[in-house]
This record gives sequence, structure tokens and C-alpha cells, in this order.
Amino acid sequence: MKPIIIGGGIAGLSLAYFLKKNSIVLEKEKTPGGLCRSFEFNKISYDVGPHTMFPGKEGVMKLLISSAKTNKIKRSNKIYHKGRLIKYPFESDLASLDDRDREYCLKEFLHNPYKNSRAQNMLQFFLKTFGQGITKLHLQPYNQKVWKISPDQLDIRLAERIPKPLKEDIIKSAQGIETERHAPEFDCYYPDRGGIQETTNGLLKIIADKSRIVCSIKIKRIYRENGIWQVATNKGNFSSRLLVNCMPLHELFKYLKAPQYILKALHGLKYNSIYIVPVQAKKDNIGNNLALYFADKDIIFNRISKLDFLGSNYRLKNHHSTVLAEITYRPKSYLSKLKSKEVRQRVIAGLDKLNLVKKEDVVDVALRSFEYAYVVYDLNYKKKVDCILKYLLSIGIYCCGRFAEFEYLNIDGVVEHSDKLAKKLNEKNNL
Ligand SMILES: Cc1cc2nc3c(=O)[nH]c(=O)nc-3n(C[C@H](O)[C@H](O)[C@H](O)COP(=O)(O)OP(=O)(O)OC[C@H]3O[C@@H](n4cnc5c(N)ncnc54)[C@H](O)[C@@H]3O)c2cc1C
Repeated sequence: MKPIIIGGGIAGLSLAYFLKKNSIVLEKEKTPGGLCRSFEFNKISYDVGPHTMFPGKEGVMKLLISSAKTNKIKRSNKIYHKGRLIKYPFESDLASLDDRDREYCLKEFLHNPYKNSRAQNMLQFFLKTFGQGITKLHLQPYNQKVWKISPDQLDIRLAERIPKPLKEDIIKSAQGIETERHAPEFDCYYPDRGGIQETTNGLLKIIADKSRIVCSIKIKRIYRENGIWQVATNKGNFSSRLLVNCMPLHELFKYLKAPQYILKALHGLKYNSIYIVPVQAKKDNIGNNLALYFADKDIIFNRISKLDFLGSNYRLKNHHSTVLAEITYRPKSYLSKLKSKEVRQRVIAGLDKLNLVKKEDVVDVALRSFEYAYVVYDLNYKKKVDCILKYLLSIGIYCCGRFAEFEYLNIDGVVEHSDKLAKKLNEKNNL
């Protein structure tokens, strides 16, 4: 019996690659790839927010980067702050702030009353690590905007992703001296054409001989009979001794019976969805930057990216540019209830207000929304996730992926996890 993998995102597809035995991947959408799919807008490919790939650990990412023709990208990301563009991360470019803000950030960093405190949430971590100036001016409002939750309600685990600044680097940053750690690097990869979907397609080609990918699947029920997992779907029943879940946990429990305490834990897990709004315009004032970040709560988007930056195949022939706006929102929130026309209008109004793209220069605009974009690490999430994953393992269901493990993983992290799980399963089941 072939192992069944539910969910054909990068987790499911890379797991199919790493498993020794041939497997079946069941995918809900018409096209596999999950968050690593791309879409076309007037012949320009765009992703769910540009998916640049980081080299990660040797071997694992090599597989992905080599699965399509990719270019090395010199990232240039900035933060829009009071009409100025500050290099990302904020603390690396204090010299670009006005005199008052720069003094405030530097003084609060050097004489930080929170320095020796014990941080138990993200707000306390920001204050302790960066001081009140950088926290109040940028980190607190930006994180509130992206996560839709106050940073004092965010688990300290998010800090694992944030590099801690050195004192001498902050002093140099205020003097306008670039530090080695923050020097621009050729540090990420992006497909030459077709968006991140090309990488997914490359991987699909590699696994074509050993995996059967069944798309447009509608699962009806998941249950176990005589030690064999059964997945009842619109395309028939699939059976296996080995079931790996790579789709979001919130999806899995729509089809799998579970005790009340597990469902309670599941309903306590918060996640954010995202609107992706591509805007094509005759011209823009974004400069030679890939992405700009916005903490201002009166601007609807938290990030915009200029796709032209990703290579000649992402440039419109008539020299118009494509800007991709991202708006995170919580399901059932005020933002989730906006009509798509209103979201598009507010994106255009925001770009116009900040003089990044004038309203009269906009040629075309579209919108897509994706339910599962970001797992939210609120203060109690870890206990709930551990409880759910432990239960699933106890009944013989393995989980792998961003929403399947409820872990804030990027592509490299997901592929690393699928590699690790495959090693365990290959050994254990002698697959
Ligand atoms: C805005 C944004 C920007 C990002 N940028 C980057 C970046 O620049 N670099 C980077 O490395 N990572 C980036 N990421 C993270 C990256 O997208 C994820 O880590 C990765 O794609 C997750 O893969 P996955 O397979 O775990 O999950 P998913 O891609 O979510 O895959 C889950 C799959 O399960 C399927 N599914 C759902 N329900 C069902 C069902 N009922 N039945 C069957 N199948 C189902 C879905 O259709 C999907 O294909 C970004 C993420 C977001 C949201």
C-alpha cells in the first residue's frame, strides 16, 4: 500500500520526493503548490507575496533551487517611516530617521532600563533587545498590524527569527556607517520566469515517476478500519497504513473525528489570512527596491513589492510596473468582511496618499485571497499545538508543514522538516 500524503504544497511534494516508497498526494486545488503557486496578471506572474528562496542548509534547498532556472536576487527592502525610506531592518539605518527620532532610538538603546529584564512576550523582548525608541516607532505598530494582536500577547518564540543587534552596530547605524552584518548581499533566489510556481513545477517533474498527485480532491471522511487509514473522497476511497497530513490542522479536523479537548485546543489556535492585490501602473516612486514595509495603521497594506525587481521576465513590455500589495487579516474580522472592490480601492488610495503610485497612473488592479497565510503565536499556542500533534501521533497520523505543524516555517524550514520526517518513516516502516 502506498503512503497517503494529504496536501500538495511544498511540504507534501517534498515529502513525496524524500520517501523511498512511491506515494499518493491528495490535493484540494486544481494545481499543486499551496502557498508556492503563482498566478498571472496581464502576463506577469505573481505569488502569494514574492517567494524568494533562501539557500538554507546544504542539500535540502539545492533540490528546490535547482528544480527550475533561478536568478540570484540582491534584496533591497525598506521601511516606510514618516515619508522616509529606512533600510530594513529598522535598527540598521537609524541615520535615515529625522534628528529627533534618531536621538530617541539611540538614547533608549544605550540607556535601556529593560536591558536586564526577563522577556516573556514579544513586547518585552523588543523593549529589552532594542529599547523603547525602536520599539515604539516601528516594532510595536508593525507587529500589531501584521499579526492583528498586540505584541504583549505574542509568544517569545517569534524572537527566534530576529537577529539581535550588537551595540557597536547600532551606534554605527546612527552615524550612517554600514555594518558588515547589514551590508547588501546576493542572498536569495527567484525563478527566472513564471514565479515560484516554476519551482513547484520543477519539483513535480522530479517526483512524477514515483508519485501520483490527485488534484481537485474533495475529502469526505478520514477514518481507520482494521489498522488501515481510509480517506473517502469525491474520487473514490484511498487506503494506506501510512497517513501523513500536510494540509492545515483546521482542515484535517473537518474530516477526522476527535475528542472534545482536541477540538477545543484547535479552536484556540489563531491564524491570519491574506489579500494579495497586484496593481499595474504607468509609473511609480518605489525606486530600486524589492519590498517596502508599512507600520502605519491608516494604510491598509503591510507590505508592497515591486515585481520588476525580480528580473526582466517580471517587467511589463510597455515599461509599466507591477506592485504587489499584501494585507493580512483575521478570519471573521472587519477586514475579512470588506468587499474586494473596497480592498482594491483602499490599496490604490494608500499608494496615492504616500505618493508611491499616483491614482491616475493605475492601469489595472486585481485581488486574490488566501485563507491560511500566517500561524499566530499567541501566548498559549504552543501548549495547544503540542497537545494536538501528540494526539495525532498517538493515533498514527504524522504531520508536516507550515499549517500542519502550526509552525512559522519558510520553504527551507518546511523542506527540512519533510526530509527529517521521511528519514524517520523510511527507517521505521522499512519503506
Ligand atoms: C505572504 C507570504 C509570503 C511568503 N514568503 C516566503 C518567502 O519569501 N520565502 C520562503 O521561503 N517562504 C515564504 N513563505 C512561506 C511559504 O509559503 C511556506 O512556508 C510554504 O509554502 C508552506 O508549505 P506547506 O506545504 O507547509 O503549506 P501550504 O503551501 O499551505 O500547503 C498546504 C496544501 O494543503 C492543501 N489543502 C488544504 N486543504 C485541503 C483539503 N481539504 N484537502 C486536500 N488538500 C488540502 C492546500 O491546497 C495546499 O496545497 C511565505 C508565506 C506567505 C503567506
